[in-house]
Amino acid sequence: MSTVLIVEDEKSIVDLISFNLKREGYEILEAYDGQKGLELALSGKADLMLLDVMLPLMDGFEVLKKLRETSSLPVIMVTAREEERDKILGLETGADDYITKPFSVKELAARIKANIRRSAGIVTAGGGSEFGPFAIDRLMQTVSKNGKPLELSQREYDIISYFLKNPSRVVSREEFMEKVWGFDYYGDLRAVDVAMRRLREKLEDDPAEPRYLMTKRGAGYYLKI
Ligand code: CA
Repeated sequence: MSTVLIVEDEKSIVDLISFNLKREGYEILEAYDGQKGLELALSGKADLMLLDVMLPLMDGFEVLKKLRETSSLPVIMVTAREEERDKILGLETGADDYITKPFSVKELAARIKANIRRSAGIVTAGGGSEFGPFAIDRLMQTVSKNGKPLELSQREYDIISYFLKNPSRVVSREEFMEKVWGFDYYGDLRAVDVAMRRLREKLEDDPAEPRYLMTKRGAGYYLKI
């Protein structure tokens, strides 16, 4: 049973979504302002957050920014206007998906299902994790594909490991530089692109048509599960 947190200040919309998602078998948590939404999102009780942009006390972007400091909870942003959608696409907000009002409840339910499934694929158990054809052994720091070990450098392993710590979101080159390469590295950001290209050759069946290690233009990279 998955729990969806709805953060939306319009009661009629909350009721509509809530009614339909309950019928699909979801548990529902509700918040009518950004502050309460963030609090519930951080409580660990939800499997996904549906987050409206325009909210009292704290808008959706602020909520998401705060949340992403410590949490990789899947988030679907709900936008009312073109500009809001553009902002989600243009900035590194850390949203996993977005949907524009007015939307069909059926479409929303499909998106929720897809996003929860995607994040569940990389839940770690006993120090290891699996996604798609890959298995990660954290103890041995190895990655195998379809049971066959991949020859990865330490940095390549660290990149995959960082992706898995930050599931379902785009990671910028700057963030990789800071978190994987470290502050003592004075290279330029293209080093990240080079590393991703090499890693793609190891992970992908066809590096020219990647299925797992994806580029989000102007934003960074993400691991598609
Ligand atoms: Ca609103």
